[in-house]
Amino acid sequence: MNGLLTIVIPSFNEEGNIRNTAKVVLELMDSRRIPCELLFVSDGSRDQTFAAIEKAAEEDPRVKGIEFSRNFGKEAAILAGLARGSGDCFVVMDCDLQHPPEKIAEMYQLWQQGYEIVEGLKKSRGKESALHKKFAGFFYGILSSLTGFDLQNTSDFKLIDKKVADVLLQMPERRTFFRALTFWAGFKSCSIYYDVADRMIGESKWSLRKLIKYALSNIISFSSIPLGIVSYLGAGAIIAGFLLGIQTLWRWIAGTAVEGFTTVILLLLLIGGCILLGMGLIGLYLAAIYDEVKRRPRYIVRLSCNLEESKKEKEE
Ligand code: UDP
Ligand code: MG
Repeated sequence: MNGLLTIVIPSFNEEGNIRNTAKVVLELMDSRRIPCELLFVSDGSRDQTFAAIEKAAEEDPRVKGIEFSRNFGKEAAILAGLARGSGDCFVVMDCDLQHPPEKIAEMYQLWQQGYEIVEGLKKSRGKESALHKKFAGFFYGILSSLTGFDLQNTSDFKLIDKKVADVLLQMPERRTFFRALTFWAGFKSCSIYYDVADRMIGESKWSLRKLIKYALSNIISFSSIPLGIVSYLGAGAIIAGFLLGIQTLWRWIAGTAVEGFTTVILLLLLIGGCILLGMGLIGLYLAAIYDEVKRRPRYIVRLSCNLEESKKEKEE
């Protein structure tokens, strides 16, 4: 079956990359005879990204684009692409060609063989700072043990069948984590490995602060185990308090009490810390629930090109 492939490309301030990415990908798809469309999602870019998309769309009608009213994040851009694309299967890839386009053909072949999800796993992480690598390893370690899926080395570079895309679009939650949701969804899946290439133009859009926020928000949206940890902390504090209590009583009986002032201060700090940590964690979940119940749209589309507006406007 030679179904249509929609390639969703989230782009944030990528004016210098659009033209080249479109050219490289389209030439490659032509050489492999894969029917495709390229859907660039400009995530509220502050440069001329959308103008570059429109230009590329004029040159080739297979290039389509939408622009958000502001920066809504890569997750929102991916979902918008899945909602607007008309393909029988979808590939999500970065605009900076760090995801090697040759692998798309490989993914497509696996899809033709009947796989509904083809995960792209990172064989190497490319040029990244040591701190970034450590942080990624730590984050995926935590997330994997909390969710029970092996998410180490996963990325957003993957192919999903239209069925899977529809499942993801039906999910009511506002905070999504595309990388893990495909594992959660199940389906017939397989993986391929790729080397992360160097960024073409510009620099990574992720600061350490943004990464930490992203990691925390994903852990919270995927697991409520941290909430349980709070009760364990409380139990630990009570046990420690009990043991210290016995020691203090013993000293009192033995007549060597008095100098326990340090213990009091230590205990105060310890328990105070546990309480604040617990409250903070509960607060984070509360904030997540608040975000969800507001049911604001995940993104707002300001402009589009080469797309019929009437299609699938159901994504609220
Ligand atoms: N991106 C996006 N919205 C954002 C940040 C990034 O759509 O708020 C896009 C970006 O244009 C790129 C992809 O997500 O196509 C990956 O971003 P980047 O290359 O900066 O991240 P890295 O490769 O360093 O993880
Ligand atoms: Mg990149």
